[in-house]
Amino acid sequence: SVRVRFAPSPTGPLHIGGARSALFNWLFARHHGGEFIVRVEDTDLERSSRESEKNILDALRWLGLDWDEGIEVGGPNGPYRQTERLQGYRALAQRLLEEGHAYLCYCSEEELAAEREQLMAKGELPRYLGRCRELCSEDTLKFEAEGRKPVLRFKVPKNHVVTVSDQVRGQVEFDCEGIGDFIIMKSDNIPTYNFAVVADDYNMKITHVIRAEEHLSNTPRQILIYQALGWKTPEFAHISLILGNDRAKMSKRHGATSMVQYEKLGYLPEALLNFLALLGWSPGGEEEIFTAGEIQQQFSLDRVAKNPAVFDIDKLNWLNGHYIRQADLDRLTQMAIPYLQEAGYLAGEVDEEKLNWVRQVVSVARNYVSFMQEITQHVEIYFNKDVAPENEEAAQILVGDHVPVVMNAAIELVSQAEELTEEAVKALLKAVGKQTGLKGKMVFMPLRVALTGKAHGPELYQIIPIFGKELTIARLKAAIK
Ligand code: GLU
Repeated sequence: SVRVRFAPSPTGPLHIGGARSALFNWLFARHHGGEFIVRVEDTDLERSSRESEKNILDALRWLGLDWDEGIEVGGPNGPYRQTERLQGYRALAQRLLEEGHAYLCYCSEEELAAEREQLMAKGELPRYLGRCRELCSEDTLKFEAEGRKPVLRFKVPKNHVVTVSDQVRGQVEFDCEGIGDFIIMKSDNIPTYNFAVVADDYNMKITHVIRAEEHLSNTPRQILIYQALGWKTPEFAHISLILGNDRAKMSKRHGATSMVQYEKLGYLPEALLNFLALLGWSPGGEEEIFTAGEIQQQFSLDRVAKNPAVFDIDKLNWLNGHYIRQADLDRLTQMAIPYLQEAGYLAGEVDEEKLNWVRQVVSVARNYVSFMQEITQHVEIYFNKDVAPENEEAAQILVGDHVPVVMNAAIELVSQAEELTEEAVKALLKAVGKQTGLKGKMVFMPLRVALTGKAHGPELYQIIPIFGKELTIARLKAAIK
């Protein structure tokens, strides 16, 4: 059955590209009823941290991706952290050495740098040309005596072409001429990525390796290792790069690319999942809004695009806004509270009464935001006492003889009102028109500016119930002078 994996290096937070790779693997596994495995590739000891690992796993869970086997959940092929599997790599390296597929290399940094420079000066690809391939025991003894620590290099076969049959990119050929003998074990006896990934994908019985296109050039190296060990290669699918709107490559180096940042801004995970799924995949057709279940059902590698995907933040904002307007109000209210507290709009304990009131505020304000942090820009009218006209357009609306007439009629009706429900306010507004003999805009616009300071915004029947009598009357009175 299908077994796929997401194998993050814990060297930073989970970014857009990584999340998309994880998602495609998860979708593929779920579509086929297979297994999704999460393995931590922490062999870069200097850059890896447990903090990054936790951040990545939390972000996966936040997105709604669950894994059947792997880090934290365990399984029959563990451990799932590469630094806990070192013995296995070392044994395998020993086998490659003994079988003549690998050799010890004592070249120093300076020697390697000189070789690279020479090749580049000739316009050739920098690569290792195999100086230590045929060391005699005397050389070895001499280097050991000098205290040089060897690395283990893989012997790339001569006159050989490696073909990667990629499920997205088709057949891609790599001439071994361009691939120097590469390092599989570093001098500290830690495996390199290309070596550890093969050992793990094989031992974890991975059937499909779905990962970012930037790894395509590593794939022939990995295939050579599979071949040397006599192992069957998995299927490969390399998904295209994600470019920014400016067509430059998106990466963790860019600021707002990590999942936690989106979480902190108040994006909804289901919106992000929907958005990420469409970065390089599409089910065909015009529809853009899909639940995770619908995407799982329709997902296939055939519909993964070869062309780079373009990250369009406006589209994400549009999608997220859509999900915000559909979301459960209690959930949104809970999301809104920290932003309101941070902006100083809510102080003290949020008791039942306050909570009800915030819920009403959120039910209106959610129509104006793309992500929940923006809610603070749409709530001043509920909190500040004074609402002076925000600009000249608004100020002009409060000029004219009809203004005090409208205000006085509204003040009287609001004072007499038994309740200020949406329905009651709708009726009340009609009554203001009737009593004053004024119509439409002549009534609503002055009331709107008096109550909100703005010429545009939510419906009066939505906001007056939230203001309540006292605040409504105070603001209407203030508009008369
Ligand atoms: N650890 C690698 C990365 O984070 C995984 C690449 C792969 O999927 O093979 O890029």
